[in-house]
Amino acid sequence: MLVLNSGSSSLKYQLLDMAGSGPDRGARLASGIVERIGEGPVADHEAALKQAAAELDRQGLGLDSPELAAVGHRVVHGGTRFTEPTLIDDAVLAEIEKLVPLAPLHNPANISGITVARGLRPDLPQVAVFDTAFHATMPEAAARYAVDTATADRFGVRRYGFHGTSHAYVSRATARLLGKDPAEVNTIVLHLGNGASASAVRGGVCVDTSMGLTPLEGLVMGTRSGDIDPAAIFHLARVGGMSTDEIDTLLNKRSGLVGLCGDNDMREIGRRMGEGDPAAQLAFDVYVHRLRKYVGAYTAVLGRVDAIAFTAGVGENSAAVREAALRGLGALGIEVDAVRNAIRGSSARLISAAASRVAVAVVPTDEELEIATQTYALVNR
Ligand code: ADP
Repeated sequence: MLVLNSGSSSLKYQLLDMAGSGPDRGARLASGIVERIGEGPVADHEAALKQAAAELDRQGLGLDSPELAAVGHRVVHGGTRFTEPTLIDDAVLAEIEKLVPLAPLHNPANISGITVARGLRPDLPQVAVFDTAFHATMPEAAARYAVDTATADRFGVRRYGFHGTSHAYVSRATARLLGKDPAEVNTIVLHLGNGASASAVRGGVCVDTSMGLTPLEGLVMGTRSGDIDPAAIFHLARVGGMSTDEIDTLLNKRSGLVGLCGDNDMREIGRRMGEGDPAAQLAFDVYVHRLRKYVGAYTAVLGRVDAIAFTAGVGENSAAVREAALRGLGALGIEVDAVRNAIRGSSARLISAAASRVAVAVVPTDEELEIATQTYALVNR
């Protein structure tokens, strides 16, 4: 399986061996990234995929290999139309195109990747795996905003959620770590990367998530504000004289950690906190406070929580964030073990105290493996 993640300026690719069974299943045969698409030598996604293909060729696993069975594409927005991995044909591509207004930065890049890959290997099944799909099971009570129904329906204003491939993978991997069937486990997944989102997963089914119509809602992120009073936008427009595009850029690119302290890398923030830097400390505190609020909210949504799983760059690496987010929650049955939390590692592991009613885990995410798994399942159905 070839997995392609086409962003606006980068193309990430991985070749995974999904044949056979056992621990080798899903082994990574090759992977890479083509960056700065649109600048200099890599003019567009076609040039990027050709560069990726040349690199795969060098590794002896060319795009023209007869063993290549399918291509799985990450697609950010599936709207309400796509709730499952979907075999791509012209009609499906046209519908993904129709969703561009909901994800103007992401879907066009995903479409370019699909178009180029289909051009190079028209004989292969190509599958779209949507970031929104895992959240399609949210009940209306969680998916709807309390705004005028006719307006909301007309413009598709509802909560879709993102990072779904990661939330799906991590919630299942967490159940596996506990030695349980996902159907028996209620999990809060905290995907903390540059973008960040939380989800509440009941018995393997997503019932709430923190991102909404767009990836701006919810947690504090590297450069995004997360939750904010929507009237702040009117205030910035009326009093600040800012345009819609300027506010969009402010909230998506110049807010979050970077807006509060000038850095969006949690490692650098930790270093500055060590030097007593008050702006870095404030950024960390706002970040962690928001995270705690979502842990509390999703504890109430789920009623019974069996596990809390931290994943992605910050979740997998920052013991300080994990400790601060869950500190003093013994009354909710949540106790982090300081020693376990401090141990670094690259595999899924428990960091809760033996007495903790809720298992707390660090579970590395693997979106490419999940896309390959879903693609394989669809193609071999
Ligand atoms: P993306 O959303 O781009 O896929 P990642 O999941 O790779 O992001 O997360 C990137 C972020 O992870 C970095 O911006 C940084 O804040 C954080 N990070 C990475 N390594 C560490 C570390 N050792 N300690 C703390 N934070 C880290």
